Amino acid sequence: MNVAAILKLKGRRVVTTSSDTSLLDITKQLRTHGIGCIVITCSGSKVIGIVSERDIVREIARAGSKVLKEPVETCMTKDVVTCRESDTIDRLMAEMTAHRFRHMPVVERGRLIGLVSIGDVVKMQIAEVEMEVASMRTYISTS
Ligand code: AMP
Repeated sequence: MNVAAILKLKGRRVVTTSSDTSLLDITKQLRTHGIGCIVITCSGSKVIGIVSERDIVREIARAGSKVLKEPVETCMTKDVVTCRESDTIDRLMAEMTAHRFRHMPVVERGRLIGLVSIGDVVKMQIAEVEMEVASMRTYISTS
């Protein structure tokens, strides 16, 4: 099972914004879309950062609510770990566990083409286990 299979199921839409967006606007976008992170891009599809609800909470705890006026550039993670469509789910789980994050943008030829969250990975793994159980049951009942 790989990233391409996840994207086929969930689609390729990613919520993105530019680095000059204020943190307040980022919180509004997170709420509107019911998501936990936004990918920061330039020229449409080049990934230059990622910001999650954790980054914003950390910033408010550090400096108070006045930071909400600041551009996201000030608190986004710039060293973004990305994956490719051919990467396996096992690789994604290893990266997410090692780096302690829950989101990975999917990039092909320098362009953002999707986003995988820990929720997508878990959902896929459960589906895989259920399929195995179903085929074992069929095998047992027909042999
Ligand atoms: P998350 O668990 O995804 O909400 O993010 C936890 C922290 O990791 C935040 O500081 C994010 O900015 C950062 N982060 C999330 N995803 C990535 C990623 N793919 N590469 C690098 N940092 C990330």
